[in-house]
Amino acid sequence: MDAVLVINADLGPLHRVTVQHAVRMLCRRVAEIHEAEPDRVIGVFPMPRVVRLVRFVVTRWRFNSGPAWSRAGVLRRDDRCCAYCGGPASTIDHILPRSRGGRNTWRNTTAACYACNQRKGDRTPAEAGMPLRREPVNPGWAALTGR
Ligand SMILES: [Zn+2]
Repeated sequence: MDAVLVINADLGPLHRVTVQHAVRMLCRRVAEIHEAEPDRVIGVFPMPRVVRLVRFVVTRWRFNSGPAWSRAGVLRRDDRCCAYCGGPASTIDHILPRSRGGRNTWRNTTAACYACNQRKGDRTPAEAGMPLRREPVNPGWAALTGR
């Protein structure tokens, strides 16, 4: 229960840290006490409940669902297995073809073997009668770096 909430300079909540960590932030003057326990002190500071960063930290990364898209990343995510026949894949298929506005995103691309890729051509899986064996997902960092 001793965790201290860290809030951004714009008061947006970020994460929790230990009291010791919060005190170190106060010592280094990267944070200030925003809310303290009444009548409790830790060293020279009131016991913090909430500390506020002195400088605004850009937190866009928190909303980024994972690593940037890459062909190699798609092959790794899919274990180099074709999404249509399950065979060894060496190409990337765009589920909604690029010629029709499909983009290079994790969810629009999947590993595919050359034959399936050719057969599917400029069609969606439904049009081609080639159902996906698995739903393409946004990989976490771990899926791309763990092997
Ligand atoms: Zn295939």
